[in-house]
Amino acid sequence: MILDEKSILIIDDSDTIRTYLQNVLVQKGASTVRCAATAQEGLAMCAEHTYDLILLDLFLPDTDGIEVLKDIRATNDVSTIVMITGYGGIKSAIAAVQMGADGYIEKQDITSTQRDHIDFLYALDQAMEHRAGVAAQKQLEQIRTELYAMVTHDLRNPTSLILMTTDVLLYDEVEPSQQRQMIELIDTAGQRLIRLINDYLDFAKIDAGYLRLDMGTVDLIQVVESSARFARLQAQAKQQTLTVTVPPAPVNARVDAERLRQVLDNLLSNAIKYTPQGERIALQLSLDGGQAVFRVSDTGPGISPEHLPKLFTKYFRVPGETTRGIAGTGLGLLIAKEIVEAHGGTVEVQSEGVAGKGTTFTVTIPLRGAEGEAGASPPPEPTPAAVAVDDSAGEQDLKLREIFWRETQRHLSMLEEALKSPQLLAGNPELLDKARQASHTLKGNAGAMQMDALVELVAQVDSTLQRAANGTLVLAQADIDRLRDILNRIRAMAADEGIF
Ligand code: ADP
Repeated sequence: MILDEKSILIIDDSDTIRTYLQNVLVQKGASTVRCAATAQEGLAMCAEHTYDLILLDLFLPDTDGIEVLKDIRATNDVSTIVMITGYGGIKSAIAAVQMGADGYIEKQDITSTQRDHIDFLYALDQAMEHRAGVAAQKQLEQIRTELYAMVTHDLRNPTSLILMTTDVLLYDEVEPSQQRQMIELIDTAGQRLIRLINDYLDFAKIDAGYLRLDMGTVDLIQVVESSARFARLQAQAKQQTLTVTVPPAPVNARVDAERLRQVLDNLLSNAIKYTPQGERIALQLSLDGGQAVFRVSDTGPGISPEHLPKLFTKYFRVPGETTRGIAGTGLGLLIAKEIVEAHGGTVEVQSEGVAGKGTTFTVTIPLRGAEGEAGASPPPEPTPAAVAVDDSAGEQDLKLREIFWRETQRHLSMLEEALKSPQLLAGNPELLDKARQASHTLKGNAGAMQMDALVELVAQVDSTLQRAANGTLVLAQADIDRLRDILNRIRAMAADEGIF
């Protein structure tokens, strides 16, 4: 139900309208419905609580409804606001929409009980959808701004360093011993740039629901050793000791060795980066039942428990001393988690947040499916967020995937239109909500959540068609044909993309 769990405020001077609306809205599932008879009262209530939905009369005794709307919108762009108009108030209602209302409804439509208030509820639903669209757009713009700021800021420093150092090498007289130091500086800045770019690219792929695993059977000890070789150099530069412990016999598993190494590289480089000079880092591989367990621990500053839940979210960096002056994007752990989960594994962190007691990251990867293993089962299917592709074709595929999602959205709009048919609305009113929700989820994104929403929606439309076929739902043949046509197109596109 569209009003389930919604908190609603009615600002209207008419007793009859308030009581009537309150009854209908509670009956339709709203969790709270509060009322105000004047603008002043309404504004005071808005200052106390952010309502999901506000029904606002255009003509209030103390102030014009449009003025109230402006006041609410000055601090609140989250609530859906629907104007209630009397007969002939449409012009003012349209003006209100231009000033931030999400819709309007005439009083006579509210009190009409026709078709169980379906028109009234539909108007509210449309308005809430409009607000959700505004919010999604705002969020997208914010992400874009953040990303631009971060990319320009993060890329600028190492690039300036490279340019300045090459300038000195080219135009100044530099001692041969200093020349080497400068080249090393350029090398470090270059490495940093490539890591930043890779992080952003990986993140974009994950966000687009598209990070490919290239699975093969490998000995995990080799992956550990290769990652440790690289980390040892970084650790040496900070006079840290890196201890590596592995089982005596090979540990064969079906994994994407490159991606798994990337996970270990990230955990090790974090341990080295955030742990002070001279401390200890350990990497351990062990077996636990049918799982390989990787542990990366350090004796660094630790991470305080309040920050642990946010650690694997995008752009998150622990604020304060531990990260000050240490370069990072706050994307590494999120990428690591996605890669591990795409292998059917888990990643966890333990830390008491006590300096010296350090942090331990534990990654588990299921061993099933390795060739030659007794009772081996097929390798885990990559999750939708980690569909298999080859890195060189990555950019091209990313574009194709974008086109797929855009087309899917177009088809979902067609589906929404088809679902507005009266018979469908009456026989299955929730389906239109589901289609709208799926459209929302898809807007501006295309990740695992989007994929799930799409798969669920297709299954529901399918079951509606089946109900029509076996006679439990009566539908016009034209509606059946239209739905089937749209469903087939979505399915064909998805099959081309290897989704379902
Ligand atoms: P970053 O690029 O900032 O290192 P990550 O996603 O890899 O991004 O890590 C997120 C944050 O987690 C880091 O910014 C840091 O604050 C914290 N962190 C990660 N590993 C450690 C560690 N071993 N010790 C202390 N803090 C850590």
